[in-house]
Amino acid sequence: MIDILVRGGTLPDGQVADIAIAGDRIVDIAPGIAAEAGLVIDAMGDLVSPPFVDPHFHMDATLSYGTPRINASGTLLEGIALWGELKEQATIDEMVARALRYCDWAVSLGLLAIRSHVDTCDDSLKGVEAMLQVRETVKPYLDLQLVAFPQDGFYRDPTAEANTLRALDMGVDVVGGIPHFERTMADGAASVRALCEIAAERGLPVDLHCDETDDPMSRHIETLAAETIRCGLQGRVAGSHLTSMHSMDNYYVSKLLPMVAEAGIAAIPNPLINIVLQGRHDTYPKRRGLTRVKEMQGLGIPVGWGQDCVRDPWYSLGTGDMLDVAFMGLHVAQMTAPEEMARCFEMVTETNAAIMGLEDYGLAPGKMASLVVLDAGNTIEAVRLRPDRLAVISKGKLVAQKARNDSRLTLPARPDSVHRRH
Ligand SMILES: [Zn+2]
Repeated sequence: MIDILVRGGTLPDGQVADIAIAGDRIVDIAPGIAAEAGLVIDAMGDLVSPPFVDPHFHMDATLSYGTPRINASGTLLEGIALWGELKEQATIDEMVARALRYCDWAVSLGLLAIRSHVDTCDDSLKGVEAMLQVRETVKPYLDLQLVAFPQDGFYRDPTAEANTLRALDMGVDVVGGIPHFERTMADGAASVRALCEIAAERGLPVDLHCDETDDPMSRHIETLAAETIRCGLQGRVAGSHLTSMHSMDNYYVSKLLPMVAEAGIAAIPNPLINIVLQGRHDTYPKRRGLTRVKEMQGLGIPVGWGQDCVRDPWYSLGTGDMLDVAFMGLHVAQMTAPEEMARCFEMVTETNAAIMGLEDYGLAPGKMASLVVLDAGNTIEAVRLRPDRLAVISKGKLVAQKARNDSRLTLPARPDSVHRRH
């Protein structure tokens, strides 16, 4: 007797199979499994995928749009100033409530693992306290990884260094930073060195907001690669955003990227937010503000898509749907070849899971029983439609369901219903 049988789904690689779940584990994946099950989910013709993973988010700021005011210029810098006002007023309870509400959205969309940066530039560290509480609350169904993020600058903010270390002492999982926001390039480089040393001492991963600017001379990724190698952190470091690389000199990039590959650094571009924030100082042509995704992938550098923001001081829209992120990334990076479109789906599932170091992840016997059934026939169709999540299973439990929902038509000489699968 097994607990759940997901019948007849199409896996991301195109294989059609049943998936048997007992307790919190996948116990078998094969066509025509005959076992009795407590719950049978009919996924005939539907895509069954491992859950979506978001490697870059800000859970302390989410769902706060308009409080205390709106970002009028639409820039990163006004967003940071606005967040400064908001965090003065925010309370732990209010931050927890917003975050839990967002996690409900995430679960309904099959997004079951999130890496969230949490601001450590606040002497009370109430954001850290709130997010640690949320991490504990959602643990039975959502893996939340926290990054100690000195939003106002590790050196630029007078107490950021001490508060970031305190946050790590409190149990935050990853070392963060923002070198391009330090006062000088030299301070930025020094912060990268210090943060990598902290990670090496404590045995933690590193994930920096790195070069989120249109300034082609913002080259902190170079220091991050060198420090990763010097501190022996290969495979544990991510550079988020890396938008300056969009504008960098091509010759310089030809030297830089092999070094990023050698350092085993992963890249996390955030296409929804950066297509909105970057290029604001340009007239025409306006730069896209996305890092060099395909070129990095060509060198074997892991690149995942991150969401970054939903309804906060930096981004007024957002749904929590990682397929929105893949959709935008596909367009901005022009990843339109069939294998590139399929890769965009892989980036918001398998690649992001690898970047976050989720060892129990994936559709295979023995792995954690977490999966999503989508109203799409394959991964490319999933990116195209961003369809309903018909069922979401987390750690062996059915946590969200949605009825298939085709539109009714009342048209002369046309069918009476339509669905957009093709
Ligand atoms: Zn961010």
